[in-house]
Amino acid sequence: MLDLAIIGGGPAGLTAGLYATRGGLKDVVMFEKGMPGGQITSSSEIENYPGIPEVMSGMDMMDKWPKQCMRFGLKHRMDEVSRISKRDDGVFEVLLLGGEVVEAKSVIVCTGSTPRRSGVKGESLFFGRGVSTCATCDGFFYKDKEVAVLGGGDTALEEALYLANICSKVYLIHRRDEFRASPVTVEKVKKNQKIELVLNSVVDEIVGDNAGVNGVFVEDKHGNKRDLKVPGIFVFVGMNVNNEVLMQEDGKPLCELSENGNVVVDLKMKTSLKGLFAAGDLRVDASKQVVCAAGDGATAGIQALEYVNE
Ligand code: FAD
Ligand code: NAP
Repeated sequence: MLDLAIIGGGPAGLTAGLYATRGGLKDVVMFEKGMPGGQITSSSEIENYPGIPEVMSGMDMMDKWPKQCMRFGLKHRMDEVSRISKRDDGVFEVLLLGGEVVEAKSVIVCTGSTPRRSGVKGESLFFGRGVSTCATCDGFFYKDKEVAVLGGGDTALEEALYLANICSKVYLIHRRDEFRASPVTVEKVKKNQKIELVLNSVVDEIVGDNAGVNGVFVEDKHGNKRDLKVPGIFVFVGMNVNNEVLMQEDGKPLCELSENGNVVVDLKMKTSLKGLFAAGDLRVDASKQVVCAAGDGATAGIQALEYVNE
């Protein structure tokens, strides 16, 4: 039986693993369905992680994190977890996608969040064929071409700036005339000559053919319509909480969740269920920053260590 199962290998999961193993827990496995690193690996640049003055890509920043954890004995299994449950004898069961069940004394859930879809007509049809949620991954396909970006938060504006370095023009489409993004980023966007703000506007439809997207129909609040002839649109309209692993067979969650589906935790990252901890973006009131997710992970790792040793 594992001492600790960590679900998710983003900044929260990796840091939880670092603290738990370095603190002395022996059998600690981090289940990560993809490569460790988390959602920040899709970011073109990060400049607000303390102690790293250089601006770097999310991929570069996360590169060394797994190596540091493995040094203290954290094991990584590239597996997707379907469900976490707890038996009457207090043992947790981690059900993997392939059907295997792994027993653990304690669990830290760090499954983070996933880019939300806008629901615009044509978005699903052309997803991966001109519709993208990752500028770092797909931006290069649009070198010297015009693209559209949908959204008004930090992600949309930062990625619009990144795309402006590669593409000939970026239409930034936002449904209001005020942005949710931080003022410093808004200023940079407004100053960028390659970014055209398409404000108070919604996307009516993403259109294309067998080759992929070839246009985006936009309408402003006065009913004025525009046909943007772009081969690509990047959708950054927020994130969904990855809480599916907590849902039991009867449809109820394993621990208390907020109205929005975030895991309710106390300051020690303890959930409403003993031995189950949650850290990072999926918990209530998360600041949704790498440094905060890492901090949560450290707290959860220390608490899991205490729980198992007790
Ligand atoms: P995540 O990073 O989301 O990691 C969760 C991990 O769990 C993922 O690797 C996922 O594959 C895995 N997982 C999910 N479900 C399962 C499952 N069922 N089984 C196994 N594995 C699973 N923050 C900053 O501080 N500065 C920035 O500049 C910044 N820029 C950003 C730019 C972009 C484009 C985005 C999307 C986010 C940005 N953020 C930034 C926010 C930051 O990335 C997150 O706050 C942080 O990654 C949260 O870490 P986490 O470990 O909680 O979750
Ligand atoms: P977000 O802050 O929730 O912003 C989502 C944006 O999409 C909003 O502007 C919203 O419009 C718009 N939107 C939502 N649904 C839409 C729809 N169906 N159609 C059109 N537009 C829609 O999401 P995010 O930008 O991904 O950021 C997520 C979190 O990560 C935030 O807490 C953010 O601060 C953080 N983050 C931080 C950094 C950084 O620190 N540098 C970078 C990236 C992300 P409205 O504004 O009208 O609601």
